[in-house]
Amino acid sequence: MKKEFVVIGLGRFGGSIVKELIELNADVMAIDKSSEKVDDYAGIATQAVTADTTDESVLRSLGIRNFEHVIVAIGENIQASILTTLMLKEIGVKKITVKAQNDYHEKVLRKIGADQVVHPERDMGIRIANNMVSNNILDYLELSEEYSIAEIIANEKLVGFTLVELDVRARYGINIVAIKRDKHILVSPQAIEKIEFEDILIVIGSDADIQRFEKKELH
Ligand code: ATP
Repeated sequence: MKKEFVVIGLGRFGGSIVKELIELNADVMAIDKSSEKVDDYAGIATQAVTADTTDESVLRSLGIRNFEHVIVAIGENIQASILTTLMLKEIGVKKITVKAQNDYHEKVLRKIGADQVVHPERDMGIRIANNMVSNNILDYLELSEEYSIAEIIANEKLVGFTLVELDVRARYGINIVAIKRDKHILVSPQAIEKIEFEDILIVIGSDADIQRFEKKELH
């Protein structure tokens, strides 16, 4: 059975979520209060509806309660985002993901029961900055304020050594959880695995430890 989602707010963020979910073969009801935005998605989403989602009766009449997961991608209008989330909670939606504008907005969203709060601009800024300061770090995914997952290109200092020889867990406190090699990915590589030229290491650890590893071993 296809997964069913509702995306509220068809700006750049909400719009790209709709397109990607459709690509991934899900059913999507796309909602915006602007009929122009809705027209843009009429041929893309499974269903595109013009509605103001701060009105509880509108949410009920659209049957939103029956969808598995609702994404609130209303950005600038924080009040509309909070009210919509509250209404969704009230009608009993199981999973609600909301885009937050700032930390205060996030606090309120969590208080009223949003299951997941995302900060796409902030997170993308962090990823791009980490990419820019190091030629070796390809990607960066923040897990918490302290911990991240990074994709790091193995350079000549590491090539030819096994994971047990490098012993990065004891020396740097980080774990190599996977190695991308050509088009393959070795998940949980064995201790005897040798690093090869142009391997990409996927490491998990604290930001400080990842940086220490990057500075000491890759320069
Ligand atoms: P992005 O950065 O993703 O482009 P944004 O953060 O600037 O978007 P907005 O453009 O403010 O966010 O909002 C996204 C969409 O949400 C807009 O198309 C807007 O019409 C819609 N929207 C705002 N309030 C409501 C509401 N009460 N009901 C339904 N849609 C709404």
